[in-house]
Amino acid sequence: MKNATPNVIARISSSIIASIISILLLLFKLIFPHSIQWWVVIAIPLFLFIFSYFIYSNLLEKFMYRKIKLIYKSIYDTKASEEERPEKMNVKKNVIKDAEKEVINWQKDKLKEIRKQKKLEQYRKEFLGNVFHELKTPIFNIQGYLETLLEGGIEDQAINMRFLQKARKNVKRMTEIVDDLQMIANLEDGSFSLIEEKFDIYKLATDVIESLEMRAGKKGIKLEFKEGCEKSFLVIGDRELIQQVLNNLITNSIKYGKEEKGKTLVGLYDMNEYILVEVSDNGIGIDSKHLPRIFERFYRADKARSREMGGSGLGLSIVKHIVEVHNQNVNVRSTKGVGTTFGFTLKKAK
Ligand code: ADP
Repeated sequence: MKNATPNVIARISSSIIASIISILLLLFKLIFPHSIQWWVVIAIPLFLFIFSYFIYSNLLEKFMYRKIKLIYKSIYDTKASEEERPEKMNVKKNVIKDAEKEVINWQKDKLKEIRKQKKLEQYRKEFLGNVFHELKTPIFNIQGYLETLLEGGIEDQAINMRFLQKARKNVKRMTEIVDDLQMIANLEDGSFSLIEEKFDIYKLATDVIESLEMRAGKKGIKLEFKEGCEKSFLVIGDRELIQQVLNNLITNSIKYGKEEKGKTLVGLYDMNEYILVEVSDNGIGIDSKHLPRIFERFYRADKARSREMGGSGLGLSIVKHIVEVHNQNVNVRSTKGVGTTFGFTLKKAK
């Protein structure tokens, strides 16, 4: 019986009892016509129907309530927030159907949760694999240099200083990766407290450009402001973190820039509520198939070039995290062989 409520079951059961008794009474009356009155043949089954209906419906409700309550309770206990919890059950209504619906919803939620956990697990495994892979190379290099030095290389004037410098360079690389990972972890778990202040983004960008000019010059790349963008703008944010964003973006424009004829342009645009900061280059560009994943940790569009430049694939992930903890957005436009533009917004100071 589909969708049977305690009332329906009680009604059917009482009707069956009343019918059986009325058939028996009828037979008795027919066999012994003077033994009982007609009203008794009608009244007894009617009384039985009403009496058993009340007994049944009460017993069933109590029984169902106890069983279903257990199911409800387990759903209730596993649901975290108040809004998620099932409404107070109404036994008089279709309790089985309600419970069934609730169990199905609960099952769906659990499946969703399991899928999410599996994805996280996969993500964690991938992340650990990447960390291991990135640290493996410098560790093996350091080991190689130290062993060569210990096996007599230390006395060899031709290599001793060179190998020590190479070992130091690899230690520096490892430290940089660990520092970058620490920064991402801090930004992700929310333990990072932003030190927000009012500052001039034009002044900050000028400082970053000046600090990277020598590096850019070595590759024949010019660092400049876009025409008409040499203006002061007061913004609100964590100055040190925004400096890192500019540093990472301008460094990338040098790393992946055009040698000798390269140009990096920094643009500052007033968008009323916020300031849009753009860093454009005329470098190697990024293939459109890589663009959606470019901000992921360890993701590289051009693996060989990135490694050659000492990149670890963490720079843009840090940029995205920093911009997002400021509740702002970062975006990228790029054409392979033509150039790349990264843009991010900052809250304008009033
Ligand atoms: P990396 O340490 O490898 O530079 P990033 O996270 O800074 O890591 O950048 C991720 C990848 O995005 C780089 O490996 C590179 O392939 C690509 N990329 C970033 N910036 C640029 C750019 N300005 N021009 C071309 N490719 C870029």
